[in-house]
Amino acid sequence: MEPTPTYFRHTKIIATLGPATESKEMLAELIIAGVDILRLNMAHASHQWVDDAMWFIREASNEVGRHVAVMMDVKGPEIRTGKVDAPIDLTTGSLFEFHIESAEPTGDVPSVSVNYPGLPQDLEIGKTVLIDSGLIQMRVETKDDTHIRCRVLTPGTLGSKRHINLPGVFVNLPCLTTKDELDLQAGVRAGIDFVALSFVRQAEDVRTLRRYLDSLGSSAKIISKIEDQAGVRNMYEIIQESDAIMVARGDLGIEIDYHRLPLVQTELVSMCQAEGKPVIIATHLLETMITSPMPTRAEISDVSNAIREQADAIMLSGETTVGKYPLETVQVMKNIIDSIEPSVKGVLNRAIELKEPKSKMLRSAAVLAQELGDSAIVVFTRSGFLAYVLGALRARGVPIYAFTDVEPIFRQLLLPWGVEPFLMAFSDDPEQTIANALTMLKQKNWCKSGSWLVVITNALANEKVIDTLQLRQIE
Ligand code: PGA
Ligand code: MN
Repeated sequence: MEPTPTYFRHTKIIATLGPATESKEMLAELIIAGVDILRLNMAHASHQWVDDAMWFIREASNEVGRHVAVMMDVKGPEIRTGKVDAPIDLTTGSLFEFHIESAEPTGDVPSVSVNYPGLPQDLEIGKTVLIDSGLIQMRVETKDDTHIRCRVLTPGTLGSKRHINLPGVFVNLPCLTTKDELDLQAGVRAGIDFVALSFVRQAEDVRTLRRYLDSLGSSAKIISKIEDQAGVRNMYEIIQESDAIMVARGDLGIEIDYHRLPLVQTELVSMCQAEGKPVIIATHLLETMITSPMPTRAEISDVSNAIREQADAIMLSGETTVGKYPLETVQVMKNIIDSIEPSVKGVLNRAIELKEPKSKMLRSAAVLAQELGDSAIVVFTRSGFLAYVLGALRARGVPIYAFTDVEPIFRQLLLPWGVEPFLMAFSDDPEQTIANALTMLKQKNWCKSGSWLVVITNALANEKVIDTLQLRQIE
């Protein structure tokens, strides 16, 4: 069964799986609704869950005849508080203590353990400690090798296993923990397409992950999550080393001054576009839809802003993991995309530097397709590279139909802006491959008879393989 494409979207949609969406039936609904990539967040998942989820995703996607890619998000160097017997009420001005797991609480003030034994060394007196997405704020007053004492600045109630943010503190945790490595082994066995690495602080973190994936024989693409000050400071080198970037605004909005968040988002999006790397805007896009069937006006504007900035993808987290309206959030995103995309200027991305003659040809293809109007680009690619570059050119109004005969590449092409991938065997005869592709586009209702397409392909000329850009019309 082939769903009939009704409207072509440039902006991709990512949804995180959780209790609200992990059944096979819900997965099928999400895929039909238009989700392009599903995210498995390993902060809360077991390996059995990964296997089950992967199985259900592939089954559901075969049933509905539409493909999705899978991103495993590993938690990286994250610091959490330990278990508390009962929630602890913290009042402004009171003292609170953190102790490392191997030490006992001092006993005179409320205390909780932390999962990182190096914390007392990394934290200086006067630094801010934020708990639970910044809800509780404290300042470090005194410390020794095993204990840290803080003054509570904003009150709150502390439950078990809460996330700690330390703005501006360089944490000496390894970028890949043992848990991350075990998670990756499970993910690679299950066939993940992307790995998102949390709290990437420098290019070396990406290289470490790449080496680890290589050792597992995985060609999963690496998405670096920028979510703290070190990540922002080193964004250029991180982008160079990564396959894609996630603007992880949940943590980023706490780790940097909140009022600079839009500036950092825009800076990351522009830099990614100049480097030809996909960029994802994540977290709180439709947060209130966790409990409400309607987004707020501010959320509608935030989603529109991401579309206008021409981010490659927008991501749902709590909305689809625990939300009451997971399918509705996908529909809301699609509706906003449908309204906003046609209003974005169709100027090609001039910032991207195209070095090889073949890459330069891609820009001409984009210009030509836009000039033709109601056209599209057809590209054949085994590595995915040409389609990633075409996506980065941001030829608005021009679908990029990318044909590949490599299944993992096919799913990895679900991320870049405007790329619609197709899996198809290539013939030895380039002419036959083109004919097969055009037939498939027509059969699947992507193109009508008579439409003009710009085709980028190899051809034989005097027995030499040459790169060509051709104009073809659908019969
Ligand atoms: P998380 O990452 O959901 O894994 O925390 C995204 C973010 O921080 O925005
Ligand atoms: Mn995060």
